[in-house]
Amino acid sequence: MNLFSHPHRRYNPLTSEWILVSPHRADRPWQGQVEKRPPESRPPYDPGCYLCPGNERAGGNRNPPYESTFVFQNDFGAMLPDTPPSELDRHDLLRAASERGLCRVICFSPRHDWTLPVMPLSDIRRVVDVWARQTVELGALDYIHHVQIFENNGAMMGASSPHPHCQVWVNEHVPTEPAKELRSSSAYLDKYGTCLLCDYMALELAEGERIVLLNEHFVALVPFWAVWPFEMMVLARRHIGSLPDLTGQERDALADIMKRLTTCYDNLFAVSFPYSMGWHQSPTDGDSHIEAHLHAHYYPPLLRSSTVRKFMVGYEMLGNPQRDLTAETAAERLRQMSEVLYR
Ligand SMILES: [Zn+2]
Ligand SMILES: [Zn+2]
Ligand SMILES: [Zn+2]
Repeated sequence: MNLFSHPHRRYNPLTSEWILVSPHRADRPWQGQVEKRPPESRPPYDPGCYLCPGNERAGGNRNPPYESTFVFQNDFGAMLPDTPPSELDRHDLLRAASERGLCRVICFSPRHDWTLPVMPLSDIRRVVDVWARQTVELGALDYIHHVQIFENNGAMMGASSPHPHCQVWVNEHVPTEPAKELRSSSAYLDKYGTCLLCDYMALELAEGERIVLLNEHFVALVPFWAVWPFEMMVLARRHIGSLPDLTGQERDALADIMKRLTTCYDNLFAVSFPYSMGWHQSPTDGDSHIEAHLHAHYYPPLLRSSTVRKFMVGYEMLGNPQRDLTAETAAERLRQMSEVLYR
């Protein structure tokens, strides 16, 4: 009996959680790429965009006439640096604590109409450098113990502007998802004496089935325990904890893999593919965190066409996540995509 062709559970060793895979439900004919939408056309500069060079933002501040990348403090940040310390604990039942932090926005380029697949490699490399610099600068603040860089791409993912940009949120405590992963990675390190993601990557490279893209320094794969359709992980091939640890060559390789990966995504449904992505890196709490292995997660919600999307509802809210498309099939479909942008 072939385990993977019947309903089964898969374990996510990073979060120590299980997901339900129902491959028999994906036997329906593949309907990707059915509706080829004309590519949305945007002007290189939009006078109404709050991220374009020279424009005024909602908070009243004006962007400089920037020519490459541009970083600014979010005018409506979810966390503030000067929050006074305060705590509540009633019998372990009602617990709350103040949280200090900072939120910044990073514009990838002055070009309003660009997306990663059309950006020149040298410009993407500049974005990687900004990520590394922000991690160093913000991580060095004494009250900041975690740096979260993430990108919402597409209105469907809640991006407030189509202008190419991402965010960096930093705060006192390691957030829930990375904290879970670090706990599991520490437990694995205690048990086997090796890095969870180094071992996992070696296994995936040997099997090959879930690998989508490769270069000398990075691997992009659909994780065995994927929940989101066409979910991917990008892993540094060297065991390093953080973006600032990347060498110049590795940064170029990262720009390469991100451009190819987002091109595959866009070609899959012939649209600018929506996703949320973000980096998981070593906390900046002063400990060495040898268990941390630099990686990014890509979570795209699109299922079978540019209009059918995955929602976490019903069984997934009450039981656990469930998916029809296996990681192996998703990787296979992504591998079939041209690395030349369809547009
Ligand atoms: Zn813009
Ligand atoms: Zn590792
Ligand atoms: Zn992670």
